[in-house]
Amino acid sequence: AIPTALMVASGRGAQLGIFIKGHQALEATRDVDTVVLDKTGTVTEGAMSLVAVTAADGWTEDEVVRLAGAVESASEHAIAAAVVAAARERGAALPEVESFAALPGLGARGVVEGRTVTIGRPTLFDGRAPQAMNRAVRQQERFGRTAVLVAVDDTVVAVLAVADTVKPGAAAAVARLRRLGLRTMMLTGDNAYAAQAVADEIGIEEVVAELLPEGKVELIARMQEQGRRVAMVGDGINDGAALATADLGMAVGAGTDVAIAAADIILVRPDLGAVSDAIELAHATLRTIK
Ligand code: ADP
Ligand code: MG
Repeated sequence: AIPTALMVASGRGAQLGIFIKGHQALEATRDVDTVVLDKTGTVTEGAMSLVAVTAADGWTEDEVVRLAGAVESASEHAIAAAVVAAARERGAALPEVESFAALPGLGARGVVEGRTVTIGRPTLFDGRAPQAMNRAVRQQERFGRTAVLVAVDDTVVAVLAVADTVKPGAAAAVARLRRLGLRTMMLTGDNAYAAQAVADEIGIEEVVAELLPEGKVELIARMQEQGRRVAMVGDGINDGAALATADLGMAVGAGTDVAIAAADIILVRPDLGAVSDAIELAHATLRTIK
């Protein structure tokens, strides 16, 4: 009866925009007691916009946005899209990027017009930013924004602040997971202020911020050692390893190829209600098999 039940589940799943990758994925939902949500692109839209630029002395906003935009045009991160859009809005023709490197969970680096341009989280530039830049970072973070630094060669030249919005229905989706008896937790590489603002908005009590991608993996592994069965929900940028480590990996939204490969369940719908829909569908299917 397993194949029949799976077929019924896939039919219903397709209507709901949920793809369960076979029997093992179904089984994995049985004992899940904890749902870990990635913040950017999972709880939030991941459609960021550049809301503030602070340029260091000797630099103009347009120039730093142009150079950062050029490097970010080679990145798939949500922050990158915001910077590229802002550069285009400012009428910049983006120069070509040579030797681009993504720094997962940290930022991106590329050579533009012969200069090395690095953009990423403040800790990437430990101690090299001038006081005024550090102050701008703190101020933007207190507004609940994500602040990244831009360096040209070894000089920090600007702070860019981006803002994201929580997906509609995210709070209701978290409440639904709770009603299913599941513990919810949000993980993010973003700063603690931005993380807390989102957590407050959606009613998640447990938040861990400023994590690196491997930190997310370690946290999940530690919970598993404590006997928890963990579902991880992510859009996949940097989260492939966490999705694969979790007892149940769920890729949300369009997802990246990495997420789709690493996940057990693919949620085609971007809304977080798909997470509880998928768990409920899986449980209902398991009941018909037993
Ligand atoms: P999240 O856990 O919220 O999905 P990520 O792990 O993707 O966050 O990124 C963590 C942090 O690394 C971001 O908040 C940002 O500061 C920095 N970062 C990562 N990629 C980029 C990029 N392409 N451009 C600028 N900053 C980046
Ligand atoms: Mg992410």
